[in-house]
Amino acid sequence: MKIGGLQRITLLDYPGHLACIVFLTGCNFRCPWCYSSELVLPDKIAKQPVMAQDDFYDFLKKRKGQLEGVVVCGGEPTINPDLPDFCRQIKKIGYKIKLDTNGSNPIMLQELLKKRLVDYVAMDIKASLEKYPMAVGFEGCANNYLADNIQKSVALLKQGLVDYEFRTTFVPGIHTKEDIADIVKWLKPAKKYFLQYFRSEKTLDPIFSQIKVDLTEEINQCLAMASPFFEITQGR
Ligand code: SF4
Repeated sequence: MKIGGLQRITLLDYPGHLACIVFLTGCNFRCPWCYSSELVLPDKIAKQPVMAQDDFYDFLKKRKGQLEGVVVCGGEPTINPDLPDFCRQIKKIGYKIKLDTNGSNPIMLQELLKKRLVDYVAMDIKASLEKYPMAVGFEGCANNYLADNIQKSVALLKQGLVDYEFRTTFVPGIHTKEDIADIVKWLKPAKKYFLQYFRSEKTLDPIFSQIKVDLTEEINQCLAMASPFFEITQGR
């Protein structure tokens, strides 16, 4: 496991907690609108400075009493076989953990949930099941495992062992209102569903960084459609 970055404080990313964000390198998806190519593409990862795990643990020890939580994100954290040990160390120091995941590794997710190594999980729902391969950059590839794994992760979170949220970034050129309706039909009923605004900044596929569209109306319509089926529905 390689730590590719540390945001020392966030008020926004762990609901109800002052936290830091640790970014793990590597991802098994290639979402074309991804904002984090430096944590995803091997040639860019190779150029990233790496933080030693012991330095990260020292940082956490020093911030004890100021920070309450750690957001573990990437890249995709669950591709690292040593993620459970990493979470165990963080919890031993005394922090709550929020995991951000693409949901592609339900076996790892189940282990983390059952062993209480995470306290909150935010799972990206990249698209309707039908459009998943296209949305994560696998169009035309044989990926029968993909939809299966994603559905298993959704089902695991809906068991409610820990607090969780599902979230979709509404990306122009990838999603339509009908896709969001399909996602809502698939996920409902569930606890929280967030629709995130696409930001046209640096993206894995540069074409997406050129897109400038105001999606406020579409997102509001989707939220109105989704809200009866979730305890909390929000745009952000
Ligand atoms: S947006 Fe897609 S490619 Fe980027 S880190 Fe998340 S899952 Fe990986």
